[in-house]
Amino acid sequence: MIQSFSPQHVVTRFAPSPTGKLHVGHGWSALLAMDFARANGGLFRLRIEDIDGTRSRPEHVAGIAEDLNWLGVTWDGELVFQSERLVHYDAALERLRHMGLLYPCFCTRADIAASASAPHGPEGPVYPGTCRALPSPERERRVAAGEPHAWRLDMAKAIATTGELHWESAPFPPLGLSAGDGWMIEAEPQTAGDVVLARKDAPASYHLSCTLDDAAMGVTHVLRGDDLFAATHVHRLLQALLDLPTPVYCHHPLLVGADGRRLAKRDGSIALADLRAQGTDPAVLAADLRGGRFPVGISLARA
Ligand code: GLU
Repeated sequence: MIQSFSPQHVVTRFAPSPTGKLHVGHGWSALLAMDFARANGGLFRLRIEDIDGTRSRPEHVAGIAEDLNWLGVTWDGELVFQSERLVHYDAALERLRHMGLLYPCFCTRADIAASASAPHGPEGPVYPGTCRALPSPERERRVAAGEPHAWRLDMAKAIATTGELHWESAPFPPLGLSAGDGWMIEAEPQTAGDVVLARKDAPASYHLSCTLDDAAMGVTHVLRGDDLFAATHVHRLLQALLDLPTPVYCHHPLLVGADGRRLAKRDGSIALADLRAQGTDPAVLAADLRGGRFPVGISLARA
């Protein structure tokens, strides 16, 4: 059971995947979300997105907590682990399956890449729908035979079920809570195509687990990087399909290195753990990040 808080609170969250060390951009994002919650008398929560069994590592979970504490980021309530929430993902998948909105997909990455017709969406190649066309008896036979498969959302059907949808985008930096700060954006989940909701190698995809968990944790304001802007369209659709509330979204610019490329966990030089090991004063670093002063070579990506 996830601890729930009274809905009148503002609730924000930080939701790292334990696949590497946190870098300065993660620290900045967590501070933004925490500060917004605290400035509005709300709560800030931490969720570990650890259902990617092939890439998630327990040592990174410990590292995340240590690095955030070092930087002065403290969270309210218990830490939420996605790996402990699998029954909820299953239940949602079952519900969508009953609504006739999911189909098993047996394609490999290579199959999809090889498909000449695969158009590109905001998150890479859009699935060409090969398995959507399989006759039901064939689907059932292959699933029953244990052939590895993902579950995809039939996007066109899903959109036909919900009709037009909107979500509220708050400006960056997030100003306050007064109505009218943000603007309504029409959801365009169709550009993502038939997204995967349960992976072959993981019990749920990021889209499904994130949407369900934000709702279960009572998150009212999602502050996260611009790289997830396109995902928000899909999350809005899932909220409508699963009767979940829609938070306000604020997408912040990403931090880029001297080469103009966005910071990534592989760039060890700007990992929070390394700055700590070098003797950086965390209070000074946090104050600098809050003031938009980033370590040498790091800047905000241009819009
Ligand atoms: N776990 C995702 C990541 O580390 C972030 C998810 C989110 O903020 O919605 O990129």
